[in-house]
Amino acid sequence: MLSVVIVLSVAALYLVSCTTARYTEMETPLAQVPAPPPSPGAHLILTNGQFYTETGTAEAVAIDKNGIIMAVGDADMVDPHKTSDTMVIDLAGDTVLPGLHDMHVHPLGGGLQQNQCMFPQGSTLEQILDTIAECVKGTEEGKWITGGQWDASALAEPPHRRMLDEIAPNNPVLLYDTSGHSSWANSLALKEAGFTQDTPNPEGGIIERDGEGHPTGVLRETAVWQIMSIIPPPTPEENEAALEWALDLMLSYGITSLTGASIGREEAKAYAALADAGKLKQRVRLCLRWDPEDEDENALIAERNLYTRDRICADCVKIFLDGVPTDSHTAAMLEPYEDTVEGRDDEASRQGLLLVSTEDLNPAVTRFDAQGLTVKFHSAGDAAVRQGLDAIAAARSANGFSGQLHNVGHCTFVAESDIPRARPIGATFEVSPYLWAPSPINDSIIQAIGPERIKRVWPVREMLDSGALVVPGSDWYVVPSVNPWIAIENLVTREVPGGSEESFGKGQSITLDEALAMYTVNSARQRGNADKTGRIEPGMLADLIVIDRNPREIPITEVHKTIVKKTIINGEIVYDRAGDE
Ligand SMILES: [Zn+2]
Repeated sequence: MLSVVIVLSVAALYLVSCTTARYTEMETPLAQVPAPPPSPGAHLILTNGQFYTETGTAEAVAIDKNGIIMAVGDADMVDPHKTSDTMVIDLAGDTVLPGLHDMHVHPLGGGLQQNQCMFPQGSTLEQILDTIAECVKGTEEGKWITGGQWDASALAEPPHRRMLDEIAPNNPVLLYDTSGHSSWANSLALKEAGFTQDTPNPEGGIIERDGEGHPTGVLRETAVWQIMSIIPPPTPEENEAALEWALDLMLSYGITSLTGASIGREEAKAYAALADAGKLKQRVRLCLRWDPEDEDENALIAERNLYTRDRICADCVKIFLDGVPTDSHTAAMLEPYEDTVEGRDDEASRQGLLLVSTEDLNPAVTRFDAQGLTVKFHSAGDAAVRQGLDAIAAARSANGFSGQLHNVGHCTFVAESDIPRARPIGATFEVSPYLWAPSPINDSIIQAIGPERIKRVWPVREMLDSGALVVPGSDWYVVPSVNPWIAIENLVTREVPGGSEESFGKGQSITLDEALAMYTVNSARQRGNADKTGRIEPGMLADLIVIDRNPREIPITEVHKTIVKKTIINGEIVYDRAGDE
C-alpha cells in the first residue's frame, strides 16, 4: 500500500503539470500540500484491491464521470470523493493493472475466421483432409471453402492441389498456412482464378510449379491475390458482426487499446460503423495498408479521416517490407537461409526478398512522416529490419524529429549492429510474443534459419538493453490466440505456456515487470497517449483491468492462466466476467 498518497482534482492536476509546481512539490512534504478544491464527487470507486502503480501498489481508486482517475491510494484517500451517487465496488483483494495494449492485431480476420474451415496448427495431412471433407459436406456445390492453418513441417510431403481435388472436386478451396504468407489451392480455385502454366509470377510473389511448369497449388506472398480477388467478399454487415465479436473477445482478455495492423477500406468502414453504433469500446489506431504500386491504397490514406472517431485514430500507415522466415523463405535476410526450397535456386529462395525498393520506400516514409503519420513496417528478416531503420533515418534527416515513433514490426531477426540504431533515430521495435514458445511455425523457422542464428530469435533482451522502446503485438489471427497472458508469460520464459524442457530464444528472456511495461506504458508511448493511458495514477484515464491473480506473487508459469474479471475503459465497465457466466 502507498504510505503517501497523492490526491488531485482536475484543477490541481493542471498545476502540477507546470514546472514551478513540480519544484514546490519537491520542497514541501506531501502532507503539507494544500487540500484540493472540493471534489465534484466520484462516479466510481474501486476499493480493497491491489492496484499496480509506479511506486508499488495502492488499495483504491476514485474515478470521475468523465472517466478520469481522481485519486489513488488507501480507502481514506478516496473516501472524500464518495457521494450518494457514487458506485462503489469492493474488489475483495483482486489485482488491478492498467488496461493492456495489443500493438499489432487483425481482429476482423479473427472474427471472419469463425465462419471458415479451420483445423489446429500442426495438423497432419490426414487430419487436414478429414476436416476439409467435413466442410465440403456442409457447403453447397460451387461455393468457396477457405480456412487454415497448415504448416509445411507437419505435413509429410509438400502440399499439392491434387490432394484437395480428391475430396473437394466441385468446390474451390483455398487454405492459408500458419504464417499467413503461403496458401494452398485446389485445381478448381486455380482454374476459376485463371491460373495456367503460362501465368507469370507476380511482383512480390511466387507460384510454386511442378517439373512441367504447372502450378502445384502453393502460392507465396502476393501470388494469392489473384485468387483472393475472386472470392466473394463478406458483406458490410458480416464484417461488422465479425469485428464486434473479435473486439469483445479482446475485451475479455483485458485489451483496452489496439493497433489494427493492416487495414483496408472495408475494415476501416467496419470500425467506423461500430463506433457510430456506440459499440466500439477500445481505443484503436488504424494502420492503413500502403504499397507504391497500389493507387487505391494511396486513396485510402488520403481519405483516412473519414474513419476517425472519438476512439479511432487513422493516423498510421502499414508497409510490408518482406514475408516470413519459414519454409517459404520470403523474409529478407542479410545472410542466406540454411536450407533450400525444393525445386528452386533463385536469389529470392536463397535470401528472401524485399517487397519495396529503397527508391520507393525512403521518399514515401519521409512524406508520411511530414504528414504527421506514423509508419509501421512488416519486417521479419534482418535485411527488412535494416531497410525499415534506413527509411526512418532518411525521414529524420529530411524532416528532423517529427514526434512520430515509427515502428519496425515483427523483428524476428535483427542484426546486432542494428539494435542500437533505433533509439537515436526515434525508431521503435514491435515483437510478436505469442510466437516465442516452441510451436509448429517455429519448427519451420528453425529449419530455415539454422541453429546458430536462431539463438537470437526475437532479440527483445538486447532491444530493451539498448534503451529502445519495445512494444508487443499478438499478430492474431495469423497466430491462433489473441490472449496476452500467454504472451506475457512467454516473454519471460520463452517456453511452452506452463513451462517446458525446450525453449525458443531463451537468452532473450526479460523480466515480468518489463513484460507488463511493454503491454502498458511502452505501448501508450508508442500510441502517443502516455499522458492518458498506461499507468494508474491521478489524472490518467481509467482504463483498468481486474484480474484473478497477482502475477508478481505466483510462479511465472501460471501467468498464462490469468483470468480477467472486469475490463474498464474510460471509467465504464465494458466487460464483466460475472455477468458473462
Ligand atoms: Zn500481422
